[in-house]
Amino acid sequence: MIVHQAYRFALDPTPAQARALSTHCGAARFAFNWGLALVKAVMDQREAEKSYGIAPADLTPPLRWSLPALRKVWNQVKDDVAPWWAECSKESYSSGLDSLARALNNWTTSRDGKRKGRAVRFPRFRSKRRARRSCRFTTGGVRVEADRRHINLPKLGRIRTHESTRKLARRLEAGTARVLSATVRLEGGRWHCSFTCEVQRADPPPAQPDVVIGVDLGITHLAVLSRPLSGVTNAVGAVPNPKHFARASAALRRKSRAVSRKHGPDSRTGARPSKRWERADQRRNRIHHRVANLRRDGLHKLTTALAAGFGTIVIENLNVAGMLSNRRLARSIADAGFAEIRRQLAYKTRWRGSRLVVADRWFPSSRTCSDCGAAKAKLPLHIRVFRCDSCGLEIDRDLNAARNLAALAVSSTTGTGGTGDLEPPCSNGRGADRKTRALCGQAAVKRPDRSADLPVGCPAGASRIRSCR
Ligand SMILES: [Zn+2]
Repeated sequence: MIVHQAYRFALDPTPAQARALSTHCGAARFAFNWGLALVKAVMDQREAEKSYGIAPADLTPPLRWSLPALRKVWNQVKDDVAPWWAECSKESYSSGLDSLARALNNWTTSRDGKRKGRAVRFPRFRSKRRARRSCRFTTGGVRVEADRRHINLPKLGRIRTHESTRKLARRLEAGTARVLSATVRLEGGRWHCSFTCEVQRADPPPAQPDVVIGVDLGITHLAVLSRPLSGVTNAVGAVPNPKHFARASAALRRKSRAVSRKHGPDSRTGARPSKRWERADQRRNRIHHRVANLRRDGLHKLTTALAAGFGTIVIENLNVAGMLSNRRLARSIADAGFAEIRRQLAYKTRWRGSRLVVADRWFPSSRTCSDCGAAKAKLPLHIRVFRCDSCGLEIDRDLNAARNLAALAVSSTTGTGGTGDLEPPCSNGRGADRKTRALCGQAAVKRPDRSADLPVGCPAGASRIRSCR
């Protein structure tokens, strides 16, 4: 299977190389801002001319926004606007103009309703001090050196890597990967280079191709699997939640206090931060990056173990964006990284030819008995143990949900969605076009008998009936 995959390596550039990397990213930013100013000027000019009543044929011709068109104009004027252009690789200017072309394209397609997701605004100028330092090389001497400790970039030359490049180098030597582009980026005070590659993957099929596993994501436990997996879960199938951010929060508070005591930037007065503030800020950011690295590592290990182990994986379609609007839970949910788990499972199951089933958002996985199938009307979040009213089953709430999810894929061979096949489109962007169902299955059948025992106008009976609408 041919996939696009990135290999990212931390770099150890010499001080001169680090300056050159910074210069290249600055050049990309310069080209972006130059192009944006040009686009704005032409748009404003045409607006003004229209307001004078000039005929459409006589207006200033519109500027084309594609990368080749922008690059053509840039090459015509670069001697005037950037006489120093030869200091950097031409790829850096191309990189800036490419991101401008993409930004403008995103804006127009979003405005015309052709782009999913939240509305994209018109691009803004990139600040010298705040913009992310990043630059992409697509042609020229982009290489991973054979010694597995160096990479080569146009104009920048050989740069030592902080870690071995063997994972990618082996593939390049075997001819199972081809480098498409290299992106350098300053992140967490360190330069990284990410190679986008076309990779010929031959992953072994899952160890248990006929086994279905249900995965219930949560906060008490990061995930509860419908059956234990040695090395990943405990005896009952729970994956502990490492809570990296919560564990780092004390250190983060301490470093943040140190930042607050120093002379920081002020957007009102335009005051620049002191050197000490910048150093303290870097020390704080290092913790943030460490948390992100720990989380990424843990999630990759979990999703790889799942994709390598089971033929079918069933997860819930969680409304993560909606859950993040709960201010009591948002931090814990963001710390767990639910959406990232689903994203990783989607492509890792594809690589191994296994199946990812995403349960309908309204599937009552927590409220249904995994033994007899009776559903409860409500199960508040604080009740951690599921007790079935019909068969008397007592089981951990999350394990019950995981087993229900697994049973979902077993009962319907097609599932609610195959690999990558998600919920049907609906009017609302986040799929929130329904209310939570109150009753279903056996409990719904029983309701009339129970309410018959209750006196007319009983508030308990009334509320039960209302809740099932
Ligand atoms: Zn039951």
